[in-house]
Amino acid sequence: MNDARALLLGKLGLHYAADALFNFPRDYEDFSDLRLVSELVADEPQTVRGVVTEIDSRGSYGKTRVGVIIQDDAGGWLRATWFNQLFMRDKFKEGQRVQFSGKPRAKGQRWEMAHPRVAWIDGGDTPYDEGLLPVYALTEGLTQFHMRRVMAEVVDQFVDAPQEVFPESLLKQHELMRLREALPAIHQPQDKELLNAARRRFVFQELFILQLALAARRRQQQVGFRAPELAIDAKLDARITRLLPFELTAGQRQVIDEVAADLASTTPMNRLLQGDVGSGKTVVALYAMLACVARGSQAVLMAPTEILARQHAATLDALLAAGRVEHRLLVGGQKEAERQEVLSGLQSGDVDLVIGTHAILSEGVEFAKLGLAVIDEQHKFGVRQRAALRSGDHSPHYLVMTATPIPRTMSMTQFGDLEVSRLTDMPAGRQPVTTYLVEPDQRPRWWNFVRQRLDEGRQAYFVAPLVDESATVEATSVNEAFEELTNGELDAYRVGLLHGRMSSGEKEGAMQQFRDSELQVLVSTTVIEVGVDVPNASVIVIASPERFGLSQLHQLRGRVGRGGHPGFCGLLAMQPLGEEEDAPDKTRERLEAFANTTDGFELAELDFELRGPGDLFGASQSGLPPLRVADLIRDREVLEQARTAATELFTADPGLAQPEHAKLRRQMLHRYGEALELGDVG
Ligand code: ADP
Ligand code: MG
Repeated sequence: MNDARALLLGKLGLHYAADALFNFPRDYEDFSDLRLVSELVADEPQTVRGVVTEIDSRGSYGKTRVGVIIQDDAGGWLRATWFNQLFMRDKFKEGQRVQFSGKPRAKGQRWEMAHPRVAWIDGGDTPYDEGLLPVYALTEGLTQFHMRRVMAEVVDQFVDAPQEVFPESLLKQHELMRLREALPAIHQPQDKELLNAARRRFVFQELFILQLALAARRRQQQVGFRAPELAIDAKLDARITRLLPFELTAGQRQVIDEVAADLASTTPMNRLLQGDVGSGKTVVALYAMLACVARGSQAVLMAPTEILARQHAATLDALLAAGRVEHRLLVGGQKEAERQEVLSGLQSGDVDLVIGTHAILSEGVEFAKLGLAVIDEQHKFGVRQRAALRSGDHSPHYLVMTATPIPRTMSMTQFGDLEVSRLTDMPAGRQPVTTYLVEPDQRPRWWNFVRQRLDEGRQAYFVAPLVDESATVEATSVNEAFEELTNGELDAYRVGLLHGRMSSGEKEGAMQQFRDSELQVLVSTTVIEVGVDVPNASVIVIASPERFGLSQLHQLRGRVGRGGHPGFCGLLAMQPLGEEEDAPDKTRERLEAFANTTDGFELAELDFELRGPGDLFGASQSGLPPLRVADLIRDREVLEQARTAATELFTADPGLAQPEHAKLRRQMLHRYGEALELGDVG
């Protein structure tokens, strides 16, 4: 390999031959698709066979073009062309039978292939079977042609170098292709079946290693930390449920039982509670916090916004008015004296329960005896944040709550170190929410409908994705919408404004006015997305809905239908939505699916399939390195297998101490040791 090429390969991170072996093709060109000219489609790799009928060449001084025309068995014509490769002219003879593989293009009435791969076949038509060509990621200055050559060389020379990571027993048990066979098969697949077997092996390997790391992580948290034992007996249960103004739903009961079982142990709880907006997660949290306080420990409830923290505090004030539980609010906009009082109360243990924003984590808040931390509406609560509330080997129990249903594959990877509970039923009294896709020409009728609801005494939200108009993003802004609505469709109504750039006082003011029905309509950004509870609001209008993920739309929709009035959600598309064929982003399909189902878990799976994981949680916030081979949508089944297998292995050999697992252990630490703070396992 020459130096220049080595340098280019270095840019791709392929310094060592072994690295290069694991630089798998990102795709394959399949030339095994043999067709007649009359069956060709443009720009897809295909193969055509025929007899050479004409050879021509044109040009001079290094600017030449060779053309070879073949006729297939059905009489169709195909022209192959080569630029600046005059020697190609001499490789063909009229009457020869040949095969061209490439991506054809229609030139007027005729099909052409530029620079096809050629095979000369004899009269007997030997089948042409080297169909799958690898496609590698490239760097500037390196062509696919060269890359293939280099990789073929690497595979040829070094394929025996890497050692199998799986012990014999695992290879057999999971029917995995051996590394020695899988490496050539993934680079130079003989056929699709072998390619799939090779790919499955590497996907399994990647997911298996990840699941081992997550198992190690779970174990480490259990072995390394102790939490207070918070047992809940029938008497305490009765005391807590008496405080609640309603009966628990069956779903809440079940989740509370799961939580209670965790709390009764000194192994810190790490539980993720998923439940649709309005399913009653707060009550579950409240129950756990009260149990914690009753057992002499402190509890903290963290909300993502100040509005929500205040709302939770108000709920608690009402419930605990008669009791002896010392509860406080801790948020950014507080007076210093008030803040100091809370901090010293937490440190001395006089304050039992604190509700606040994530500020609690960062500002050196000390607890006398923290037993439980509840994190509301926050899936971003990762490994590192959890560490912030620990001291020494003491850890509180953790309950993380989210209304964003997490697709199963995601909870098995990104959140693989958490136990998962799901609230699947709704408290009685929830009303159905009907969703409409409002096309631009239907707007007058829609606003008529909204005004009727307002005239009946209901309230409405109007949500838009931006605060201000933007030159680069084509979407509705709240400031713009506020102007338009107050001077147009809603000029006779009391309309208020709420967005993230307002001061917390202004925000709270607007929220309070809306709660008190002084405002009939609240024009807002997604700050109202999470948890805000105004039962009288029955309509939500969402502008530029195509800018939101389905799960996010679902959360927004959950703001209405809460107070005994049927809910309505109108999606105001900016432009007429194209029909499915000409909408590559599947906007209409997505929004129609959204309008047609109210099951948040179903929407989450759909969102995940249509838009991938990024949309759900923003950039890889779990802190895990990205997967290289596996695709969580395509490889769902392998993920299930890998997870089961990894759990089994880790249970049999915790810490992977047995010599035959040493290579797995090394790979696990190499890839995930830092991200998951695995340290020295076992
Ligand atoms: P989430 O946080 O899951 O969105 P909340 O805990 O805020 O939901 O509950 C939504 C509403 O339902 C609240 O007004 C709450 O008081 C009410 N609620 C919760 N549980 C019950 C129940 N078991 N029966 C009746 N109402 C309930
Ligand atoms: Mg909530």
